Amino acid sequence: MQLVLPSVELLDISTSSTRKIEKAARTCYQSEGKIGKNSDKKLVRKLMELNHGAMLEFADMTLRFVVDRGVSHELVRHRLVSFAQESTRYCKYGNGVTFIIPCWVNLPAGEYNWEQGEWCRAEGPIPGMTLNESEWLHAMWRAQESYLELINRAGDAWSAQQARSVLPNSLKTQICMKANLREWIHIFKERTSPKAHPQMREVMEMAVMIAAQKVPMLFNQFICK
Ligand SMILES: Cc1cc2nc3c(=O)[nH]c(=O)nc-3n(C[C@H](O)[C@H](O)[C@H](O)COP(=O)(O)OP(=O)(O)OC[C@H]3O[C@@H](n4cnc5c(N)ncnc54)[C@H](O)[C@@H]3O)c2cc1C
Repeated sequence: MQLVLPSVELLDISTSSTRKIEKAARTCYQSEGKIGKNSDKKLVRKLMELNHGAMLEFADMTLRFVVDRGVSHELVRHRLVSFAQESTRYCKYGNGVTFIIPCWVNLPAGEYNWEQGEWCRAEGPIPGMTLNESEWLHAMWRAQESYLELINRAGDAWSAQQARSVLPNSLKTQICMKANLREWIHIFKERTSPKAHPQMREVMEMAVMIAAQKVPMLFNQFICK
């Protein structure tokens, strides 16, 4: 059984996002002649002030998230996003199941095994854990054991799409999300708010750092001070 931490990776972002936005927006004002050094930055700032968000739809960003199924279930509620997600119908976890460590569980990432009444970890000893952390770890182990039992039962094995019914919300999944920058602003507003789930905030704060590095004028506003 593998325990991993959530992560986010940039797959793609429109080259010269603010220039793309500028070209589209200047069509409205027939002011292409004003394109010059830093004119894109000035115009995008103006568009933000005017709440002319439609122009931000002319640039896109694609991120790949490694999260648990609980978080991914919330992500797919964003209707303006294109998705590609690891399939529990077609991926068979015959070598063991991978789970995401919740941000309130203080366990190191790595390979865990329950052998002769104790936890063994290839990477070294496991630091003392709380009763709840131990309960969570056992729940993941039991889910993995049931899953492996079902897909391996001689003469009556279940397919991956049948056996997945025993897998919990903490199952690791990969999900790609492609959206325009207006929609990313909307997502970051919703999902970095204190009202969002802590695991959602955890990955959205990583996503914000990536986005802010690429287009600071749009995304710096979401960096937690
Ligand atoms: C704190 C929090 C708690 C939540 N709790 C629950 C819950 O208990 N149960 C539950 O079911 N969901 C819950 N959700 C999910 C929520 O209901 C939305 O499905 C999700 O946040 C996506 O938001 P959205 O619709 O604004 O965004 P998107 O789907 O990304 O859409 C972006 C924007 O496009 C516009 N838009 C998109 N589609 C339409 C449309 N058909 N008509 C008009 N305008 C549209 C809207 O302006 C929308 O804000 C929760 C979300 C949050 C952040």
